[in-house]
Amino acid sequence: MAPVAVKALCESSLIFIKHADLKKQIKVANTLDLAVEWIEADERRLKQMLVNLLSNAVKFTPDGGEIELIVAGDAANKTVSLTVRDTGIGIAPADMARLFKSFVQLDSGLSRRYEGSGLGLALVARMAEMHGGSVSAASEPGKGSRFTIVLPWSETMQTFSGASTDQRNQANPIGLNRSAQPIAEINAQSTHILIAEDNEANIVTLATYLQAKGYRLTLARHGGEALELARAECPALILMDLQMPVLDGLEATRRLRADSNPQLAHVPIIALTALAMPGDRERSLTAGANEYLSKPVNLKNLVALIQQLIEDAPGTKHAVV
Ligand code: MN
Repeated sequence: MAPVAVKALCESSLIFIKHADLKKQIKVANTLDLAVEWIEADERRLKQMLVNLLSNAVKFTPDGGEIELIVAGDAANKTVSLTVRDTGIGIAPADMARLFKSFVQLDSGLSRRYEGSGLGLALVARMAEMHGGSVSAASEPGKGSRFTIVLPWSETMQTFSGASTDQRNQANPIGLNRSAQPIAEINAQSTHILIAEDNEANIVTLATYLQAKGYRLTLARHGGEALELARAECPALILMDLQMPVLDGLEATRRLRADSNPQLAHVPIIALTALAMPGDRERSLTAGANEYLSKPVNLKNLVALIQQLIEDAPGTKHAVV
């Protein structure tokens, strides 16, 4: 447990659903209570909880809908609530009670269309309990749902929130051994990586680790999106899953190598695959990838490889983390 900068936490969680506004025209809003600058939490777990609720909201919200992440402090009751509100399909009253039980899914018709919504919520509830908090849900079928995580907000954290950086460093209320600096400030000048991957669990694992290492990330869910985002944002490096819908990683890699923009034609690409087949490495390298890794990826090795490729890239002027 350590002080977590709430604004940066929200921003780094919302990155995971940025594709929703590109692909489903879902409006994503973030409403912050400015009094709540800091809360005490296990940052990685708390982010997993938020990403889980946000991803669910995207899954159940039709095109053109709205999703809002709302943070509100209650100083008197010493709690902070983090709410994910959506304008999705909602949940029938009969299903509400079962919602947070492991492996429970809503009616079978729904679970076929929206697979895997059961276990995630049970984990969110468990993690909230481990923080001394709770999760609740409210919903109106056809109108939308609200999921709210309530966490303790100690007087120490309330004071910490109001204090200047100098005061915070002096007070060091719970014996911090690291400077509690908002992630966003670090990310501003850090290396930009595009992750092209269609599996949400892999995205969360990769993105959480790389964000913690200070990288700035963009996420693409298929090869077509990867091309679009690479052209729009010119990342310093691309992690390219091979098996993806719409356009697979091999084809996306070939098209990048053929791009008229020399920066894209030479951007370092690491190909990743879960179903390592004989010949995958050769096919990846022939398509134009610089390196090939089979999943599960050793994250430390991945970061070492990323740094090596960025430093080796011809004529790069990218800041190195
Ligand atoms: Mn895949």
